[in-house]
Amino acid sequence: MKQGKVYLIGAGPGDPELLTLKGKRCLEEADVIVGDYLADKRLLRYARPDAEYVYVGKKAGCHTMKQHEISLLLAEKGKEGKIVARLKGGDPFVFGRGGEEIEVLREAGVPFEEVPGVTSAIAAPAYAGIPVTHRGVAASFAVITGHEDPNKDRSSIHWDKLAGGVDTLIFLMGVGHTALIASQLMKYGKSADTPAAFVRWGTRPYQETYTTTLGKAAEDVVKMGIKPPAAFVVGNVVKLREKMRWFDNRPLFGKRIIVTRSRSQASRLVTVLDQKGAETLEIPTIAIRDPSDDFKGMDEALDRLEMYDWLIFTSQNGVDSFFRRLYQSGRDTRALGHMKIGAIGPATARQLTRHGLHADCVPAKYKAENLLSEMKPLLKGYEKVLIPRAKVARSVLPEGLRDLGCRVDVVEAYRTEADTAHKEELLDVLEHHGADIITFTSSSTVYNLMNQIDGRTDLLKGVTLACIGPITAATCRKYNLEPSIISDIYTIDGLVNAIEKGVEKK
Ligand code: SAH
Repeated sequence: MKQGKVYLIGAGPGDPELLTLKGKRCLEEADVIVGDYLADKRLLRYARPDAEYVYVGKKAGCHTMKQHEISLLLAEKGKEGKIVARLKGGDPFVFGRGGEEIEVLREAGVPFEEVPGVTSAIAAPAYAGIPVTHRGVAASFAVITGHEDPNKDRSSIHWDKLAGGVDTLIFLMGVGHTALIASQLMKYGKSADTPAAFVRWGTRPYQETYTTTLGKAAEDVVKMGIKPPAAFVVGNVVKLREKMRWFDNRPLFGKRIIVTRSRSQASRLVTVLDQKGAETLEIPTIAIRDPSDDFKGMDEALDRLEMYDWLIFTSQNGVDSFFRRLYQSGRDTRALGHMKIGAIGPATARQLTRHGLHADCVPAKYKAENLLSEMKPLLKGYEKVLIPRAKVARSVLPEGLRDLGCRVDVVEAYRTEADTAHKEELLDVLEHHGADIITFTSSSTVYNLMNQIDGRTDLLKGVTLACIGPITAATCRKYNLEPSIISDIYTIDGLVNAIEKGVEKK
């Protein structure tokens, strides 16, 4: 039988990019993933689709698995010959009870490895702009449990030495015990004026930071309603936040933005919004599917490629679908050697470069009219043009080319269909959590979102609608909704810039 193994993996504090490369590799290999409350769910994207997922963290109202039961579960899976990824928030050995799990695994004779992670004790302050050490300010730091039972006879925390001898103190699990922590530190000589901060859900897009002083901390926890999980940082380094803040002052920080594009198209928009600090929720309302004629039109066009003079792409999807079919038919890009290629905008042209092709004609601004006027001087007026594109699309381009004397064949390369798989999630977000912005990157995203909320535009009250261009905006107006952000450059970057400006104005 295959030898099992358990990897105790530090999942990092939340930002999925703070997972180590080794942690990622183990996660990719795993047959079983055992996840925690604090291990970010977004890491599951690295798991095999067929991997089993067991959640053992706490969740309001649900039974929490006891530590010993978790350890036994790991041992059992390991004995079954499984590769187990035990994902733990932060670092497994920093108040993560990783050691206890290893003791059980050792006893059971199950091989294991520990993969350290980025601990929230350092990363949460870092993302709040607070370095735990700094030349001239702090030469030492300590990470301390804030969870010690206050009724314990003798504390195992050396309050006197910490208060007097360590510059930066970071308490984990301490929110509920702030009064005790602060009074102990002050009792042993830390000044009530010492700067302090709570960093809640550090490194995540909804991170919250509250600055206070040691003397006021207990009162502020109550007043500001601070809840776990938070790291409580005490020391003069907290003052550095004023200068070193970088994460929570990015332009879209704190904005929850719904992306309605199809999953296959969304990634770039999501990446750019994330980088600007937004919390993006990918809730596709449309999906890209194979053409309704099952590629009949496209295959016929591929059979007579040599007769075309121009090949024009009006979307990245068109490029993807065309080349997939071209390769499947046993051809390669040499079959296009005699043709000129047009792309409707820079993103479509970029997609072509993935196939080693440079478009001969790309208007700076994404719009059919612009492509037409750019192509005009290049045409003699008798060219044969092939346009593989979506089933439903505007007729400006083919008609304009025909007016110029060209013979134009439009073939269906793909079609967009409503994606209703995320309807419940969409309603849940709008009804219970709210969103700041919804992005619409085509009219079909508008139609399909409206269908999914059954026309309940009241759910969109207070939500800013951001459209990629005037056509999409006009579609919103059909529902009596006025988008307050309309990009005048009809690309993803254009849209993101418009959102940034719109947010700034508010
Ligand atoms: N092993 C973890 C700590 C587990 S103890 C680590 O190395 O980070 C749980 C405590 O960690 C929480 O109560 C909270 O104090 C802290 N914590 C975990 N993730 C956090 C985050 N993203 N932001 C702030 N504090 C966090």
